[in-house]
Amino acid sequence: MAKKKQRPTAKPTIRIGYGWDSHEFQSGIPLKIGGVTLPHPEGLGGHSDGDVLLHALTDALLGGIAAPDIGSLFPPSDPQWKGADSAVFLREALKRVRAAGYALVNIDSTLILAAPKIGPHTAAIRQSVAKLLGISGDCVGLKAKTPEGMGTDHAAIAHAVVLLKRKS
Ligand SMILES: [Zn+2]
Repeated sequence: MAKKKQRPTAKPTIRIGYGWDSHEFQSGIPLKIGGVTLPHPEGLGGHSDGDVLLHALTDALLGGIAAPDIGSLFPPSDPQWKGADSAVFLREALKRVRAAGYALVNIDSTLILAAPKIGPHTAAIRQSVAKLLGISGDCVGLKAKTPEGMGTDHAAIAHAVVLLKRKS
């Protein structure tokens, strides 16, 4: 019987990645979502700048290549990430995706928060995320919902999925 050909190095043509994050609102800090500072009396607490959308996207990129998650790569216990710009995390995740032999095709995301209203800022956030990820704005999906009945009015939640394509 002919031996089955083994291709241990064959990589899937496409891969999907998923990320989720949440942060609690705190007064006295700026609100950053998707790298954009939004006018609001409260920001998102956390060891870094609390950018819930960039954190979910970072985990989605890392998850797409089955790499360790954001908390493993950038431990909140490490003082160097205190107040850090979350774009740093996203760029590192994207670098790892590219090093693994993949290119980002598109992303989709959902924000869940009671306030502020995201609608007026959707275009700016999509453009900011597109620029950070090196893809065009029409490859960045962003929906915003209010947390009806979830009891999470004092937090912001973000879900994100990414599609990765093997580089030829
Ligand atoms: Zn986070």
